[in-house]
Amino acid sequence: MSVAQSGQTLFVTTALPYANGPFHIGHIMEYIQADIWVRFQRMQGHRVHFVCADDTHGAPIMLAAEAEGVTPQALVARIAATRPKHLAGFHVSFDHWHSTDSPENVELSQDVYRRLKAAGLIYAKPVEQFFDPVKSMFLPDRYIKGTCPVCGTRDQYGDACENCSSTYAPTDLIDPYSTLTGARPELRTSEHLFFRLSDPACVAFLREWTAGSGAGGEPRLQMEVLNKAREWLGGSEGKLADWDISRDAPYFGIPIPDEPGKYFYVWLDAPIGYLASLKAYVGSGKAKTAGETRSFEQILSAPDTRQIHFIGKDIIYFHTLFWPAMLKFAGAPYKVPDNIYVHGFITFTGEKMSKSPSPASTAISSASTSISRAARRRSSRASSAARCRRACATPPSCGGTEGPPSSRGQRRTLSPTRTRSANSARCCAKRCASPIASTSASIRRSRGSSQRIRRAVTSCTTSARMRSSRFAR
Ligand SMILES: [Zn+2]
Repeated sequence: MSVAQSGQTLFVTTALPYANGPFHIGHIMEYIQADIWVRFQRMQGHRVHFVCADDTHGAPIMLAAEAEGVTPQALVARIAATRPKHLAGFHVSFDHWHSTDSPENVELSQDVYRRLKAAGLIYAKPVEQFFDPVKSMFLPDRYIKGTCPVCGTRDQYGDACENCSSTYAPTDLIDPYSTLTGARPELRTSEHLFFRLSDPACVAFLREWTAGSGAGGEPRLQMEVLNKAREWLGGSEGKLADWDISRDAPYFGIPIPDEPGKYFYVWLDAPIGYLASLKAYVGSGKAKTAGETRSFEQILSAPDTRQIHFIGKDIIYFHTLFWPAMLKFAGAPYKVPDNIYVHGFITFTGEKMSKSPSPASTAISSASTSISRAARRRSSRASSAARCRRACATPPSCGGTEGPPSSRGQRRTLSPTRTRSANSARCCAKRCASPIASTSASIRRSRGSSQRIRRAVTSCTTSARMRSSRFAR
């Protein structure tokens, strides 16, 4: 990371924590990294606007609130109330903390959408998906279970089997049922809205943006991240699929203009929450108190402003493809990010720690608990964990094209004959998002121990499942 040139304005964000739970140690690690960087830049004489927000929308929040008998807003408010003491406890000083469930985010999300539509990059297409007739709602993949179509194991999720690690569409499940009501889901068709990410103009822009440098002259992406983005972008043939940006009611989200009963998929409005937080910061008068006299639009469009996002590697997909493309084709005053700074996960002997259920206030003390837990898990499946880590550390090239597991419209349904190697690629893409490739080769090398391989792949899939819940919104 470079020192910004003198006199620049830096608009800096960290990833927005999902509002269905308190901070975990991974959040705090990222905030401390970003806070140190921000303090250093300020010491160099730069003006920094450092903001964050709660990421509030999506089906999990809606269903959790319903289960508690409260409104989604009340659930989000309760979680949000836990934030300040943890931030203060770690001396992390954001200039402003906002919410994606805010007037600013509604205004900006709808504005970006209208601009993309005017640019010809939005279109409607019928999508067939499972519908819970008792709950009267379309079911995200994670809310469907059934019998694995490949190995016959019961009670498997709608996107992957924990026993044989096959991935498939929910419609491939045998005897599917809704995890919300137990009802047998019905296949129904609904019009969804798509962002034309595969448009040649989008692809050309992303090739240039991912490989280019920000206003500070530093490459926008770290080399490892650039490699991953290149895998998704593909070669001359192009690999990007269009992006399903709508969800049908009931859904806790932002209404799509002129589309009654349809809401933006949470991953459309979540990053726009960065901008909404900056806009609210300016609107609140706090920016002016800090010496910033310009409007939100003037700050964004000023040539000396740099836009910088700190994120974890699990959300590279959204920040290096959708987000810059949305901003580019929405046009001024929106600007594309100058840099995306990506960090990995906190691990102990290869096990990810950041999903510790303990809140950040006890992160330090809970670390020892997590370590003990990790050690027990490790000893109980030492060989499989070791196998899995070797796979994840394998250097690139299978061209892992898979994005987040629940991005509808991008799933590859695998034939049973492709299951083993394809799953290995998928596992690595999900677990560590690092460049992968020869995973299937390494699996072949170890074919003598098929039982170990199966356990290893399953363990990777389990980790991926823990993480994938954040995408199943
Ligand atoms: Zn199976």
